[in-house]
Amino acid sequence: MRSITRFDLQYAHRFYRFSGEAQYLHGHTGTLTIEVEDSINAGVNMVFPCNEIKKTAWNILQNFDHALVLREDDPLLPAILAVYEQQEIKNGTPTNKMRGPAFKTEWATAYPGCRLVVTRETMTAEGMIKIVYDLLKDKLNIAKLTFRSGDNTASQEYLPEGTMDRCPCCGIAMVNGVCPKCGCRRK
Ligand SMILES: [Zn+2]
Ligand SMILES: [Zn+2]
Repeated sequence: MRSITRFDLQYAHRFYRFSGEAQYLHGHTGTLTIEVEDSINAGVNMVFPCNEIKKTAWNILQNFDHALVLREDDPLLPAILAVYEQQEIKNGTPTNKMRGPAFKTEWATAYPGCRLVVTRETMTAEGMIKIVYDLLKDKLNIAKLTFRSGDNTASQEYLPEGTMDRCPCCGIAMVNGVCPKCGCRRK
């Protein structure tokens, strides 16, 4: 069975060197749907609490919210960083509070201080799915990801391996047989 969660990310990007309107800088509300697959946890009669899936994903993906996403070879990148530097906001400001942890993967690097994500490939809906799966695959039993950005939607199915040890009282992932949230212990 699957538990499914969905949330929005608002960002600006462009398709550098793409022949079409999308080569110009523009913004979206992107919608990410995450489907997690596992057995039903009998204690709570659910696969996984959806708000916990969201919390886990949002912790890292908030890097994409109110962010600028540019490909690593896009000449806008040094131009924008020069402006941020001149304005003294490149390394963050006290009002930039919604900061996720910095990350660097094969597909993307996040700079939370200036709300920037630099990608290896163009951030299409397909590109975003590769980035998201790579960031979350070790944290969630992902069976399917869907990303919708304007008129474009992409999805990919996965075969999650194994099962997660989940708390029989609140449903979240156990850490060494103990629930980090409610303290329940596996008997
Ligand atoms: Zn777009
Ligand atoms: Zn618990």
